[in-house]
Amino acid sequence: MSKSGTILYLDGVSVAFDGFKAINNLSLVLDQGEMRAIIGPNGAGKTTMMDIITGKTRPNSGQVFFNGDVDLTKHDEADIATMGIGRKFQKPTVFESHTVEDNLVLALAGERSILSALFARRSSGESVRIDEILQTVRLTHRRDDLAADLSHGQKQWLEIGMLLAQDPKLLLVDEPVAGMTDAETEETARLLKDIARDHSVIVVEHDMHFVRELGVKVTCLHEGSVLSEGSLDHVSADPRVVEVYLGR
Ligand code: ADP
Ligand code: MG
Repeated sequence: MSKSGTILYLDGVSVAFDGFKAINNLSLVLDQGEMRAIIGPNGAGKTTMMDIITGKTRPNSGQVFFNGDVDLTKHDEADIATMGIGRKFQKPTVFESHTVEDNLVLALAGERSILSALFARRSSGESVRIDEILQTVRLTHRRDDLAADLSHGQKQWLEIGMLLAQDPKLLLVDEPVAGMTDAETEETARLLKDIARDHSVIVVEHDMHFVRELGVKVTCLHEGSVLSEGSLDHVSADPRVVEVYLGR
C-alpha cells in the first residue's frame, strides 16, 4: 500500500509471550493528523500494541512504519521517542513538588540538567510555548500551584502538556479518563480534539461516553487483531463486538 499521507502503518504484526499470541497479525493504518480511538475487552492487546509502537516490545513478525518508510521495529525506545512519538501511561508521573509551570519547563528542557532548566533565563520562545501549552491543557490559572495540589484529572492534563512540550508528531494515550469526574472526562475529550488539530493521536479508552464525545473512527481489538473498525455506531452495532463485550 502507499504510505504517503500515513503517519503510522502496522503491517501484519505479531508477538507471542510464552507461546501466547498477544498480538496476532495486526494491521492498522493511521492517517497524518488523524485521531483514532482503540477499544476492546481486557487482554485484547491494546497496551501491547502501544508497547510495540514505542519500541518497548519487539514483535516476532511484521513491520511498523512511521511517517513514511521508517520501520520502527528496527529502532529502540529512545530513538523512537526522539523521532516524535510521545506516550502517556495510565498513571500520571508529574513532579509533585514542583509548580505546574516548572513541570512544563522541565519537560521542554528535555536533556538539559534540572537545575539549569529551572534557573536559566527563559527565552521568549520558551515562554510563549509554555503559555500555549498551559492554555491547551486548561491549567493557565494553576501555573504557580504545586503539581501535588492538582486534582487527578488536572495531573493527567499536566502530563499531556509535558508530552506536548516534547513536540511529538504522534501521541499515544492509554486510558486517559480512568478515575476522572464526568466534567473532567468531557473536558478531556475537548482537550484531545484541540490537540488533534495539529497532531496525530491514538487513544485507548474503555469509557464509551468519552469515545462518543471524541467523534472519531474507532478500532476494536480482540485477541490481538482488529475485530471491527469504523464509526462508533458501526462498531458498537457489529454482532462480533457485541459478542466479545458480553464475554462469551
Ligand atoms: P489490554 O491492554 O488490551 O488489556 P494487554 O496488551 O495488556 O491487553 O495484554 C494482552 C495479552 O498479553 C494479555 O493476555 C496479557 O496477559 C498478555 N501480556 C501482555 N504483556 C505481557 C508480557 N510482557 N508477558 C506476558 N504476557 C503479556
Ligand atoms: Mg491495557
